[in-house]
Amino acid sequence: MYGGRARGGAAIAAVLLVTGCAAEPARQAGTTARESGAARESGAATPGEAQGPPGVVPRPGEVGRIRPANGLPPVISSIPTRRKVVFLTIDDGWEQDPGFVEQIREQRIPVTAFAMRDAVEAEGTPDQSGGEARYVGAGKWGYFRQLRDAGVPIENHTLTHPDLSRLGYDAQRREICGASALIRKRTGARPTLFRPPFGAYDTGTLRAAGSCGVRAVLMWTATVQPGGKIAYQVPDKRLRPGDILLMHFRPNLARDFRVLVKKIKRRGYELGNLRAYLDAAVRPAA
Ligand SMILES: [Zn+2]
Repeated sequence: MYGGRARGGAAIAAVLLVTGCAAEPARQAGTTARESGAARESGAATPGEAQGPPGVVPRPGEVGRIRPANGLPPVISSIPTRRKVVFLTIDDGWEQDPGFVEQIREQRIPVTAFAMRDAVEAEGTPDQSGGEARYVGAGKWGYFRQLRDAGVPIENHTLTHPDLSRLGYDAQRREICGASALIRKRTGARPTLFRPPFGAYDTGTLRAAGSCGVRAVLMWTATVQPGGKIAYQVPDKRLRPGDILLMHFRPNLARDFRVLVKKIKRRGYELGNLRAYLDAAVRPAA
């Protein structure tokens, strides 16, 4: 589900950057040191709320303001901050690696999921580029409720993963509002963020998303490939403060994730709580 007729610049880059890479073993993923010990002791019985949301939150005055244009939800590729913090997002939902839920719960890793109905409900054809499809359809929405309980916001990535820029307004609205209603029904919370499949959108998409209760359209600045390799969309191939990283629910996600998180920490970056940063960046006019 990564190819197709991409129209946005980010989407084209994302399509080009889907390449494999051998994984290296990693014994331990980094996490926010001050939080990890308490989180381990708390176990599964007390999800994120008991200790506040996972990930670092912005300091006063740290985050620049993102202003919505013409009353439409803003399109956000990165968070305006100079702090060395990045944000992890995961799309679709074909592969439901149980080890991944355990990992983010125990280590309190901040992640935002963009769920797509036909992937979560395992209809259509899963992407095979990630390797053997071992968990397809295994957990359905139950898997996303587990993620929710581990502190992961479940956001909107349409019902069927179309190229929205090729659809009319009503069809786009059916895709976006339909997915928001479904996610609310299945997880109890209505999405406030939307990510267009392939990164392809037009003004109608933004209007439709706004009418479905979406407050921001989330793009990305780098993609994470199998093996935890980061594929940048900037020439200097470095993480930058505020970067939003895009992964997919793939086979071996837990393993790749360990490699990725370790790599991010090694470069001196923290993992941020996207919702808290968006709250700071996209605030109503004073
Ligand atoms: Zn997708």
